[in-house]
Amino acid sequence: MFEALEKAVQQREKILQTKDLYYQSEDHKHFYSICKGIPFYRWEYLLNNHEVQHSDLARETHGMCCWNRLIGLPEKDRIKHNLYMYEYNLFKELMEGKSKPTGPQKEEAEEK
Ligand SMILES: [Zn+2]
Repeated sequence: MFEALEKAVQQREKILQTKDLYYQSEDHKHFYSICKGIPFYRWEYLLNNHEVQHSDLARETHGMCCWNRLIGLPEKDRIKHNLYMYEYNLFKELMEGKSKPTGPQKEEAEEK
């Protein structure tokens, strides 16, 4: 009897968690802590035409060299692709002027 009730409560909590946009499981928290401080991509390898060295670095660091290697490079037809120059240009434009936080409100939003 109690087991059934406990199960029902756990299921209800699980449903509530999936509806809560800001809910973070331990796995999520661990992933976010790994992501903190690593660059989005190691553009210098692209810019210097040394993506082979970037692949070596990714192997040595187990994908911790940059966020894109950590989550896995984009794939098309099962072939992984390094990022391209147009993506660098897009990234640069999107990130322009992003270095100045505007106050506590923004910091709080970034925490989540
Ligand atoms: Zn990398």
